[in-house]
Amino acid sequence: MGALRERFWERPLADLNQSEWEALCDGCGRCCLHKVEYEDTGEIEETNVACTLLDCQTAKCSDYPNRKAKVPDCLRLTLKLVDRVPWLPDTCAYRRRAEDRPLPRWHYLVSGDREAVIAAGVSVAGRVISEDEAGPLEHHIVEWDDGEDDAA
Ligand code: SF4
Repeated sequence: MGALRERFWERPLADLNQSEWEALCDGCGRCCLHKVEYEDTGEIEETNVACTLLDCQTAKCSDYPNRKAKVPDCLRLTLKLVDRVPWLPDTCAYRRRAEDRPLPRWHYLVSGDREAVIAAGVSVAGRVISEDEAGPLEHHIVEWDDGEDDAA
């Protein structure tokens, strides 16, 4: 896995070891929400419907080590995939670093506060419904606010 190096999040994504890659996630939970893609236009809309494994109150995966086995289409973000996932939010740490942008001030690696992602209004914690209860996704289309671009 590798040790976390000082200010590793300022290094290019390609330089990160596995531990650093994992630690880069801000835990917002946005990538754990269902999207609606329209076949005719290719347009993608966001919803407030969460994967069955997401704890809707904390926005944390309830079985992170086994998520791929339980939810086969769970996105496991890799260096190659970052550029190919059009719906990653603007705030996503992987997207930002892939675009050579700094992390936002509220990111826990910068602020030292894991809860700052909630205070910034970026986390989905407490704002989503599980797919087990939601019903048709089309009834849950929302626009998530990416907040201010307050880069560190
Ligand atoms: S959108 Fe990016 S930063 Fe947020 S939980 Fe997903 S991978 Fe982590």
